[in-house]
Amino acid sequence: MSNFNIAIDGPSGAGKSTLARRLAKRFGMTYVDTGAMYRAIALYMHRLGIDCADREAVIGHLGEVQVTLEYGEEGQRVLLCGQDVSQDIRHHEISECTSKVSVIPEVREYLTEMQRGLAKTKSCIMDGRDIGTVVLPNADLKIFLTASPEDRARRRQKELAQKGEELPFEQVLADIRQRDERDSSRAVAPLRPAQDSVIVDTTGNTLEQSVEQLEEILVKHLGVSPVCG
Ligand code: C5P
Repeated sequence: MSNFNIAIDGPSGAGKSTLARRLAKRFGMTYVDTGAMYRAIALYMHRLGIDCADREAVIGHLGEVQVTLEYGEEGQRVLLCGQDVSQDIRHHEISECTSKVSVIPEVREYLTEMQRGLAKTKSCIMDGRDIGTVVLPNADLKIFLTASPEDRARRRQKELAQKGEELPFEQVLADIRQRDERDSSRAVAPLRPAQDSVIVDTTGNTLEQSVEQLEEILVKHLGVSPVCG
């Protein structure tokens, strides 16, 4: 198989990006983090002082936003109108704006088209919420990655702490539940497993256990072999 695509979907904090990045490296594929694209749009609106839930205002400024993904030695970089915002898009505040902005159909259309374009040109592992159901319904392999809300909140709290954002566990858990609800109940491209996806629950796993589990799935379903460590 020369050019193939893997879709990884699932709720916030299930470990999608860490695992997808690891697998992409191991199997010589490009990792495409679609959440980062939604985050970049949210950051743009936030910087303009626009309420991300205000559909008219967001649509009014959507044409100005230029999101570009660059790939280098250290992985994916997210550029917003030419400026590297890879770190800025990760703030807790921006996560909240992102799940609001991603409800807007025009935002989804804009990014879906971009994501399909990327998948056409390279073999990629793309992670998000609607990759297997909407963006790449013909993906060669679809994985739905999940874990208990508590496990996901613990991981998210640790990640934020590593970036200097100390938040109480209860707050992170409440925000995760709220984002799950928003992502799953929206009218356009709600978060749900594609019918033909392989469901992987990583509750209680270490990162290494999850990597191993997913590697086995890739080898079994695609017949591919790892290319590097
Ligand atoms: O994956 P990440 O947590 O960075 O995504 C941030 C937010 O972007 C999600 O909570 C979701 O609202 C939105 N998103 C989406 N569709 C995608 C990827 C992300 O709606 N394909």
